[in-house]
Amino acid sequence: MRNLDWTDEALCRQVDPELWFPETGHTSKAAKEICARCPVLQSCREWAAQTTAGELSVAQGVWGGMTERERRQQLKGAA
Ligand code: SF4
Repeated sequence: MRNLDWTDEALCRQVDPELWFPETGHTSKAAKEICARCPVLQSCREWAAQTTAGELSVAQGVWGGMTERERRQQLKGAA
């Protein structure tokens, strides 16, 4: 079982979660600004990288201040 204790400090738990899942054509800027101030950014980013790589089933939305597309580009660059 993966330890997700870091989510207790996640700033996104305190505001509208829809910001992290913008509809097509809408910006993710507001979510990214909050992520930039989040105390668990690095843990979130690591979890999201694993998720995006297909280890887990959820890959959509902004995680760790990055969109799914940005995470996939980062993973390609790391390969
Ligand atoms: S970095 Fe962003 S998505 Fe991740 S826990 Fe913090 S606010 Fe939520």
